[in-house]
Parts: sequence; structure tokens; C-alpha cells
Amino acid sequence: MTDQSNLDKKYFLDRYVYNCPFCNRRNVSYGIEKHYSFDWTMDKSCQIYIVFCNSCKKQSMHLSYEHIHDYDFKHRLYFKEDIDIDSKLFYSVPTSFFILDNRIPEILRELITEAEGSLKMNFLTGASACMRKTIYELLIIEKCSALNYDDKIKELKTKYKDTDHELFNILGHIKDMTSDKVHEQSWNKWDSHALKLIIETLKAVLYDIYVVPAIKAERSKAVLQLTKKVKGFK
Ligand SMILES: [Zn+2]
Repeated sequence: MTDQSNLDKKYFLDRYVYNCPFCNRRNVSYGIEKHYSFDWTMDKSCQIYIVFCNSCKKQSMHLSYEHIHDYDFKHRLYFKEDIDIDSKLFYSVPTSFFILDNRIPEILRELITEAEGSLKMNFLTGASACMRKTIYELLIIEKCSALNYDDKIKELKTKYKDTDHELFNILGHIKDMTSDKVHEQSWNKWDSHALKLIIETLKAVLYDIYVVPAIKAERSKAVLQLTKKVKGFK
């Protein structure tokens, strides 16, 4: 069977099922409860979709600049067929918070989710601020005690030798990350390409630091459990 885990990373799988951010059930059926539209600017309208989970009945809200719905023969509202619904939405509440593994510390997940939401809406200053804070929080959680940013990243690199060094090099090369500047508020926002690079780099690092060791530990535990069932195995 092919690896389907990429589907866990989506909000909407198709017009019938999604990954519910409230009850955290995957592949659960949903419906569109309400649809409104309003004028975002003089020449751009925005669609609002209120979606409900058929399992927990909670409602979420999703915004799109495109008409991405149609009706079936019973006049029931659905998202259009054969579109990547996620790619058409620029903002959702709740955000797709569940996309990041819950073994990653909550504060880091919240900040990255907020950064991604801001980036989707092209709020680059907000997204930059969130990512700066994510990196600082990570350095605090990991107890990096060096005085300056470069050395803190080097500490991480030494601590997590199995993680691709290039990832830490990317974090180390981020401009304006000296610890003084965060207090001065004198830094510039990053452009969207830089932000995407920083977000993806950080996600890869966090996965290596918090998720990979946990998966390895679970596997070892499962194997050890099996050895207990084999008589005479020591
Ligand atoms: Zn639900």
C-alpha cells in the first residue's frame, strides 16, 4: 500500500470528507452549513464557508477569494468536485493546527501555525514576528545558553548530530536574528520566499528533534514487548 500519510496533512480531502480540527478525527464526513460573500476590496470578493463536522457537530470557518462551491440536484451545498480545496482557502478558523505532530511543544506549533496563516494572507510582518519568536522559544526550550545567536544555533547543531547540518546552517544564516535586535524592534520583515524557507526548515528541524526520537522509542518498545512473548528469549 502506498503511503497515505500526506492526506493527514490536509484540511479537506474532498467535497465529502475532511480531517476535523475539533474532534481530531481523520477522514470524517462534513457539510457546508452556510455560505456568505462580501466585498474584500472594490474589485475582489470573498467567500465565507461555515463547515460542520458530522461527527462532533462543531463548526469551522473558511475564507476563499474564489467561488469554490456548487449545488447538487437536491440544492445541497458542496465544495466543487476535482479541486484542491485547501489550496483555494487562504484563511481558516481553527487553523490547520493538527497538521504539526503533537509531540512538538505546543507553543512552537501555535506560533508556526500562526505564521503560516499570516503568510497565506500576505501579512509578512506578522508572519516574520511569529517565526522569530518560534526560533527564540525553541532556543529557550532547548536551553541553549550561549550569548549570541550564532553560537546558540551551533549548540543545537552539536546536540542534534543526526539532523542534517544544512538545516541548522540555514537557521544560522537568517539575517537580523541577533538577540539584541528583537528588543529594539528594528528588524525588517522577511519576504515570502524567505519566510517559506524558514518555516519549512524549522518544521524539518522540529520533526527531527521531537518526533523522530519518539517514533524510534515506540518501535523499540514494541519489539521488546515481542521478545517477552518468545519463550526462553533473553
Ligand atoms: Zn469533529
